[in-house]
Amino acid sequence: MKAKNWIFTVATFLVSILIVQAQSPTNGKQSTATEKEKKYQARPGKTQNFGAEAFEVSDKTTLRWLGMAGFFINSRGTILMVDPLLEGFDMPLLIDFPIAPKDVLRLDAVLVTHADNDHYSIPTNRDLLRVTKEYHSTIYVDSLMKNEGFKSFGHTIGDQFKVGHLKIKLTPADHAYQNAYPGMSKRVFKNEDACGFWIETPDGTIWAPGDSRLMKEHLEFPAPDAILFDFSDSEWHFTLEGAVKIANAYPNTPLLLNHWGSVDAPDFAPFNGDPEKLKKLVVNPERIYVLVPGETFILKEIRK
Ligand SMILES: [Zn+2]
Repeated sequence: MKAKNWIFTVATFLVSILIVQAQSPTNGKQSTATEKEKKYQARPGKTQNFGAEAFEVSDKTTLRWLGMAGFFINSRGTILMVDPLLEGFDMPLLIDFPIAPKDVLRLDAVLVTHADNDHYSIPTNRDLLRVTKEYHSTIYVDSLMKNEGFKSFGHTIGDQFKVGHLKIKLTPADHAYQNAYPGMSKRVFKNEDACGFWIETPDGTIWAPGDSRLMKEHLEFPAPDAILFDFSDSEWHFTLEGAVKIANAYPNTPLLLNHWGSVDAPDFAPFNGDPEKLKKLVVNPERIYVLVPGETFILKEIRK
């Protein structure tokens, strides 16, 4: 979700409530109670920087969280980034990024789930262009990428394509929140403007669902071997309850937490999942991986 616009819309709404309360003669005390302490935000440990060693060919598939919703995947030498954001975000951050775009040696592809700037970072992708063979996303995001001159491909939901030995399919998403806030965008958004990615590697399957409200389809896939897991309690995401439903639909699948602990925005739910709360809610909580940015996770096929 495009955080700044959303915050502005919500803030406008809240301010209008405060004004109404302030105007009410019975609410004089409440109208002065606008100062509050900054809310707690769960945040990850210290970033583990990485460099050339992460680009070497091995006989494994290794993932690294980039912070935000971004992941680096090196599958036996075929290298992807999913939703990379490594610079140029428009809100204050809680983390350091584990690699700078100038230190990225090569990418066989960048995959982008949707157009919001916490997933489709134009500054980052401009700086990755020199080392990136292909960009893949939805038809809409592809049109934005073409405007930038990226070597991009647009796909419909359910489409499959290959990057090296990886088979990748677009999974559905429901994230057209822009239409619910008049004035946010002149464009009418469609669900198929956003997607997830189902990535089949020789070492197992990775599912990056992207930002979405919970859909029936999300609970009916064959069990993946890792989920890039957004567990924020936001109505335009899975909600915490919905995230737990997904987690428990695939009770042995490792959950690689993301979309949390990265942005200094204590009142903005999508950036404020707390791993400790999640651990109390899911079946087999030991499969929750609270990676720090840059830390590795080695993909293995789970017992299905
Ligand atoms: Zn997001």
